[in-house]
Amino acid sequence: MQFTSNGTIALQIAIKALELTGEIITTPFSYVATTTAILWENCEPVFVDIENHTFCIDASKIEAAITPRTTGILATHVYGYPCDVLAIEDIAQRHNLKVIYDGAHAFGVRIHGRSLLSYGDLTTCSFHATKLFHTVEGGAIVIKNEALARKIWLYKSFGHIGDEYFTLGVNGKNSEFHAAMGLCNLPRVEGFIEQRRALAECYRRELAGLPLQFPEPIDDSLQYNYSYFPVLFDTENHLLRVKEALAAQTINTRRYFFPSLNQLPYHAGASCPTSEDVSRRVLCLPFYQELTFEQVRWISQLVRNFYGLTG
Ligand SMILES: *Cc1c(COP(=O)(O)O)cnc(C)c1O
Repeated sequence: MQFTSNGTIALQIAIKALELTGEIITTPFSYVATTTAILWENCEPVFVDIENHTFCIDASKIEAAITPRTTGILATHVYGYPCDVLAIEDIAQRHNLKVIYDGAHAFGVRIHGRSLLSYGDLTTCSFHATKLFHTVEGGAIVIKNEALARKIWLYKSFGHIGDEYFTLGVNGKNSEFHAAMGLCNLPRVEGFIEQRRALAECYRRELAGLPLQFPEPIDDSLQYNYSYFPVLFDTENHLLRVKEALAAQTINTRRYFFPSLNQLPYHAGASCPTSEDVSRRVLCLPFYQELTFEQVRWISQLVRNFYGLTG
């Protein structure tokens, strides 16, 4: 694993290290950095729509998007829910494609007892202050292959060791100060996850019976990290009005992710109806381990009030 300045440079270095060119198949439902990293590396993002239960890329639609120019797949484990890693691995092998996972939400997630970060050729992480595990600013690239790990180490360290210059590089490293922050948080992550699990259950109880949906993985081998609490509203109009009602009580919510990345003003992609629909209707409610159950009940009550229900 290589510790980097942030999760965005991790994606850019990952694309460069795997020597991806031409088209990269990717998800339209992610943070903007997933797409801009592809554009920044002079590749073309080719968007494949998402599943409606995990909000991750729909693996069954990937093959139809492959062309002779496709060199890789860059997919995001959205909210820490796993992509269909086995189906993607199978497609990648048959078409000789590299696979990068944007694992910015996936720290601490396991499937079949194995870290989700261990799938694909590379997985990138973000340790930004808003993430489950953080180093204030920071990121990482999880690499299995040793030669690739050395190449990436050089890329993030200006491409030289002392007076020996090996390759083009960039400043993608991080500092001891940030690492120290990580060492403070690391032993606490399991406790964070446990507390968030209880908070998520509280939200689910309090919001039951409303016309809201929650992303749901089908796989029961999943050990989830409870990194976000996303709610899918019945309409965008209701989302906007609830967001406003909460903001009036100084409660901050986030349209995460919005817009669908195939609709960025500076780069248009092919239409992705599910992603566009989900982006318009999904809202992340306040969710962090210091949140109290009382606050969760209060926030939920405000949402219930909007839909005309009482306690
Ligand atoms: C946060 C995030 C990033 C960017 O990470 P930074 O450390 O902020 O650069 C990339 N992808 C996803 C899915 C993210 O959530």
